[in-house]
Amino acid sequence: MIILKIGGSILTEKDSAEPKVDYKNLNRIAEEIRQSLYAEEISNDLIDGLVIVHGAGSFGHPPAKKYKIGEPFDMKDYFSKKIGFSEVQNEVKKLNSIICEALIDYGIPAIAMPPSSFITSHNKRIYDCNLELLKTYIEEGFVPVLFGDVVIDDEVKIAVISGDQIIQYIAKFLKSDRIVLGTDVDGVYTKNPKTHDDAVHIDKVSSIEDIKFLESTTNVDVTGGMVGKVKELLDLAEYGISSEIIDANEIGAISKALQGEEVRGTKISKD
Ligand code: ADP
Repeated sequence: MIILKIGGSILTEKDSAEPKVDYKNLNRIAEEIRQSLYAEEISNDLIDGLVIVHGAGSFGHPPAKKYKIGEPFDMKDYFSKKIGFSEVQNEVKKLNSIICEALIDYGIPAIAMPPSSFITSHNKRIYDCNLELLKTYIEEGFVPVLFGDVVIDDEVKIAVISGDQIIQYIAKFLKSDRIVLGTDVDGVYTKNPKTHDDAVHIDKVSSIEDIKFLESTTNVDVTGGMVGKVKELLDLAEYGISSEIIDANEIGAISKALQGEEVRGTKISKD
């Protein structure tokens, strides 16, 4: 079983103030997934199923920013926070619906599973989550599609759960064979490759030590979530599930990775 994460940076115009889908990427990736699922010789890992997780991109971030969702708040502001929660949930659901529609158009039996409808968290980490239905859909040959979402938290009331955290949680439960993470860079670098010409590509990450210098040189958001992704994936590596971060802008990279072919990227694995 493979979990494919497609970043918000790929499926949306991430920096847009308005929600904007990147239809060119969406349709191409839907076609690459179709090719992999219906290849004459389907990869061993794919035979047991595929789960897709996508980011929120320009659908989730503007309302989350507007209502400061994810930040600590006073209970007197809870009502307005709830409106913000609903707005974020509604926007990411719209993106999910567009993505599922494209996948279905390409003959993929996509089934939407909004995390806010079956996941709660404790202090921003997934706490309660019944995955039996997800398992049943996979066993029946559907392709469940989950996404970064807002959830009810028993400590901080409202939490944003990233697609990367969802992967980490469900991969263990589903005993996923491997994870493919498609983003807009071909892996992890010593510095942000978009802003540093001297950034050096890291082929493999096996422990937190390998990325320690990344954190010490950056503050919270400079890595655009890259350190957060690697940490979630390292947790899975400890558990024996390996992942690869690849450039989903590169034509054919997703289909190759799904079919088990070598693609330039960063491997996160214990061995
Ligand atoms: P997604 O929306 O695909 O999940 P993010 O925007 O969260 O992706 O993370 C990918 C971004 O991380 C890249 O566009 C890149 O600019 C940025 N980034 C920051 N630091 C690094 C780094 N050290 N190595 C690779 N990418 C980095």
